[in-house]
Amino acid sequence: MRSSRPKENEWQKLTASARAASRKAYAPYSDLRVGAALESARGRSYSACNVENSSLGLTVCAERAALFRAVAEGERQFLRLVIYSPDAGPLPPCGACRQVLAEFCPQLRILAVGRGGIQKQYDLAELLPDAFRWSGDDSQRAGEGAAEGEGRRA
Ligand SMILES: [Zn+2]
Repeated sequence: MRSSRPKENEWQKLTASARAASRKAYAPYSDLRVGAALESARGRSYSACNVENSSLGLTVCAERAALFRAVAEGERQFLRLVIYSPDAGPLPPCGACRQVLAEFCPQLRILAVGRGGIQKQYDLAELLPDAFRWSGDDSQRAGEGAAEGEGRRA
């Protein structure tokens, strides 16, 4: 049982970071405070909160904010993510966040912690099994016609 101890501690530290971040949430419209903490392959953690906006579509989720913060610090690989909210049950990442997370870490392990400490674990690969991936290959230009000349418009 000793071998499972360090992992458990890592989830706890990451959960504490996510909880602390949730206290900074800017959520005047939904009252849904969320904090996220992302652990990089280099062992660093990056946390952030959700930031809502009067123009609701401009709201940024906590997990995306944490990822962008980490990427801005030069991180590209991630192992674990905790999403914490004191205002709901365990929250899986939304569809947009699944896609953004999959860009950098398709094998990400996710722990969602909700009100009362209720937890749920996810694998990103299960939440988003066939993530969109742009390869720059012409075969992905659906509807444009990859054959010579077809994509041209006068
Ligand atoms: Zn989201």
